[in-house]
Amino acid sequence: MERHPDSLWAATAEPDPGHRPLDAETSAEVCVVGGGFTGLSTALALAERGIDVVVLEANAPGWGASGRNGGQVIPGLKQDPDALLSAFGDEAGARLASFAGSTPRILFDIVRRHAIACDAFEGGWLQPAHAEAGLDTIRARAAQWRPYGADIVELDRAETARLVGSEHYVGALLDRRGGSIQPLSFARGLARAAAGLGARIHADSPATGLARRDGTWRVTTPRGSVAARRVVLATNGYSGPLHPTLMRSVVPVFSFQVATEPLSDNVAATILPEGHPASDTRRLLWYFRKDRHNRLLMGGRGFRKDALDAGDTGVLQAALRRLYPQLGEIRFSYHWGGRVAMTADHLPHLHEIEEGLFAGLGFNGRGVAMGTAMGTVLARLAAGEPADAMPLPVTPLRPIRLHGLHSPVVHALTAYYRWQDARERRAMAS
Ligand SMILES: Cc1cc2nc3c(=O)[nH]c(=O)nc-3n(C[C@H](O)[C@H](O)[C@H](O)COP(=O)(O)OP(=O)(O)OC[C@H]3O[C@@H](n4cnc5c(N)ncnc54)[C@H](O)[C@@H]3O)c2cc1C
Repeated sequence: MERHPDSLWAATAEPDPGHRPLDAETSAEVCVVGGGFTGLSTALALAERGIDVVVLEANAPGWGASGRNGGQVIPGLKQDPDALLSAFGDEAGARLASFAGSTPRILFDIVRRHAIACDAFEGGWLQPAHAEAGLDTIRARAAQWRPYGADIVELDRAETARLVGSEHYVGALLDRRGGSIQPLSFARGLARAAAGLGARIHADSPATGLARRDGTWRVTTPRGSVAARRVVLATNGYSGPLHPTLMRSVVPVFSFQVATEPLSDNVAATILPEGHPASDTRRLLWYFRKDRHNRLLMGGRGFRKDALDAGDTGVLQAALRRLYPQLGEIRFSYHWGGRVAMTADHLPHLHEIEEGLFAGLGFNGRGVAMGTAMGTVLARLAAGEPADAMPLPVTPLRPIRLHGLHSPVVHALTAYYRWQDARERRAMAS
């Protein structure tokens, strides 16, 4: 079992109640593999229905992306509603858009219903525009979401500067559906709530085998096994050889973050003064927010590894200097990274792989709200509801072609995107 990375979230989260490894042969109605937001939310929704569920987590709840992310509760998908209508047709596309727009509400409802202590902030999410091209993106986004009743406003340059606390951006979108959480506390809260309703959650229990015989699935771990009618795979960017095709249906890319020491009250009051989280319109986006102790977090993309060393933080330090010159000398208390699961079509995927075997993954860096909401959908499927009643299309599982080549391709694209982002900024300045 691997420990949580040494992150701000691990240092400040609500305590882990502790979950024993599976050390026996057992049975359940549903077995969930993976204890992040997706798997834990699936288990919670099943337990709320009174369905017997076992969760197998290789490490500890929230060990994967769910305990490492920016905690930004972002509505919608990378694709805006028009793209969903073109991809899936008017009816299914609109259903998916409505669902994607409702994911923060699903998350915050869970927080309230189960009194999960996770510093939940429901005051909205900012998407500041880094250049003219970014303004086009947010204008189109706002226009496409309004027919769905989304509470979104476009901010001019002055209002953006006020809410971000920086002159860096040319405008922004304020989406009042969004907000933020302490992600590891939220993951632990989901686990606690599910366990309180009877879900059996096992840490240090990697699923190493998966087979079906006579209509029953058997999931094996090093010290035990679970026999279940239905299995949900919720392993996302950490999917491994348990199901090789699932593993090859996403490309893991790495995202990393830094957190400063707590800022002085004077400086903190000038940065994100109303407490919003923000992710900008760069292709290699900068995402940033404060935590409840007024530490400033900054995240970005780029390195091809899970573990960072202190030298890697230079890129984010430079970004923070440009955004917030008022910070003066910047000292980081924490730096850490994790895997984001990308799909070829930039959409999250929901699969029935074989009879009784389901998976939901590929959140393309937007899985805080979407992964949590996906869990509620996976629970409905695992409870026996038909695929055509789901708000997301249930699609066949397909590996990405030439999967092995994707890591170097992503690396090359990263460099290209960085160049494009910089070129757009330069064009604005000239
Ligand atoms: C640095 C970073 C910043 C991000 N910031 C944001 C953000 O601000 N907003 C946002 O919306 N999204 C963000 N994301 C994405 C978001 O964190 C993910 O989309 C989301 O957490 C996915 O949840 P999950 O439960 O599907 O996967 P994970 O949380 O990755 O969970 C998968 C789990 O499966 C377990 N597992 C794997 N194989 C097995 C096995 N064989 N047996 C048992 N267990 C297994 C792993 O140990 C892991 O705990 C970020 C991601 C990263 C890495």
